[in-house]
Amino acid sequence: MVRTTAVEAVIAAATERFGAKSVATAPQDIAPWLTDWRGRYHGAAAAVLSPASLEEVAFLVALAARHRVPLVPQGGNTGMVGGATPPADGSALLLSLRRMNAIREIDAVAGFAVVEAGVVLQTLHETVAAQGMRFPLTLGARGSATVGGLVSTNAGGTQVLRFGTMRSLVAGVEAVMPDGGIWRGLEVLKKDNRGYDLNQLLIGAEGTLGVVTAATLKLVPAIGDRAVAWIGVETPEVALQLLRRFERQTRGVEGFEIVPADTLGLVLAHVPGTRSPLGGEHPWHVLVELVADREAVAELEPLVADAFEAGLIRDATIAASEAQAEAFWRLRDSISEAERAAGPAMQHDISVPVDAMPRFMVEAAATVEAAFPGTVASAFGHLGDGNVHFHVRAPAASDADSWRRDVGYAASGMVHDLVDAAGGSISAEHGIGQMKRDELARLSDPVRMATLRAIKHALDPLGIMNPGKLL
Ligand code: FAD
Repeated sequence: MVRTTAVEAVIAAATERFGAKSVATAPQDIAPWLTDWRGRYHGAAAAVLSPASLEEVAFLVALAARHRVPLVPQGGNTGMVGGATPPADGSALLLSLRRMNAIREIDAVAGFAVVEAGVVLQTLHETVAAQGMRFPLTLGARGSATVGGLVSTNAGGTQVLRFGTMRSLVAGVEAVMPDGGIWRGLEVLKKDNRGYDLNQLLIGAEGTLGVVTAATLKLVPAIGDRAVAWIGVETPEVALQLLRRFERQTRGVEGFEIVPADTLGLVLAHVPGTRSPLGGEHPWHVLVELVADREAVAELEPLVADAFEAGLIRDATIAASEAQAEAFWRLRDSISEAERAAGPAMQHDISVPVDAMPRFMVEAAATVEAAFPGTVASAFGHLGDGNVHFHVRAPAASDADSWRRDVGYAASGMVHDLVDAAGGSISAEHGIGQMKRDELARLSDPVRMATLRAIKHALDPLGIMNPGKLL
């Protein structure tokens, strides 16, 4: 790792101003934050800067800009595309937002919360629940993912069907721009036509345009009751028919996740304490959550019974208790963990038009498996959003590095080509980071790339915000 005099100067000035508590330089304090959640990217940094306020962030960004030292913003480090991992040459410093963890305000009447970047999603859920409200976005990493990371990746999750991604849930953003200037955009305005929407530009920018320090988030009333069903179906096509049918019959469907049998098998094999909700084998499984003002089970039960009569369902069970509902969701939320334990894989977080997705899932998997014998391709996730996680797993006992080099990257290229041909996106919710940067450039039309680069250059002419990510 090269420790330049510029890096030394930033560390010295930051330590002098804020003390050692805000500037970690001991290798054992830095090490946990240098590798991404999947363990695919490893970086180096001479320090982790941990500001505790907006003013401290502004000071540090201005300091870094003065010395031309790049900064890599980081929240919970649960991102899936290596976006929060610093470059391996040690030229950048990590900027952790985890100490900025105040919930500044909750307005339960207006339905908003002003939340700092370092607040962990689960803490937010629990805090607003105590006031009879909820923040309607959740995902498997909720125990570590932070609001700053969720905003910066435009995170989705399992309730997008009803409430949309972060883009529809963020009403305002406060951020420090690459020159250290402060963007104060937290106010809630239902109408605002003062030109370009800088809040939306910062959402999903992956830390390349500035540092998000806080956001105003939309809240909805806490749910009265929920019912969760686990359903076995024949094909993804039938699963989508089931969703459409439920949506015609009720407005309460909040979650609708599809899981193929082999993926469920991985969870059962690798995650202790899990068991299949249904007896017998089913090629595809669906997890449905219905939310209602009261007695959600009474609403879901007849819908499931009707669909069974109509021949859409092979078998189904409705959770008999909140603990069982949680157990069903645990099966879905543990898929990433189970896959990580199962061995090397190439992950693709893709979208195509919703109606085209069932066919895509089956045909693309068959194409990839035929082209790369021994691999297993399967897709799970947010069928109703036209977004699935399409993973290509290596044959058992493969060496991760050599399999990726010899097979994995070519398989990824094929998956992305198929997505592109279907008019889809190679990143539906995880972002681009460093993992998909070259693929974005390869598959995007020139106007998209030129515009993204122009925006980056206009806002960050020195290139100090999260270099090597996205572009
Ligand atoms: P980090 O990983 O720390 O950072 C992610 C990106 O945001 C990086 O580019 C980083 O530089 C930037 N960033 C972080 N904080 C800031 C800030 N304050 N200002 C500017 N830039 C910043 N994602 C989904 O969308 N849907 C899912 O269903 C989903 N499920 C997941 C399940 C598991 C088990 C795991 C491990 C991850 C999952 N993710 C999912 C991915 C991940 O949780 C999200 O991308 C999340 O938004 C990342 O938050 P974080 O705080 O960990 O961000």
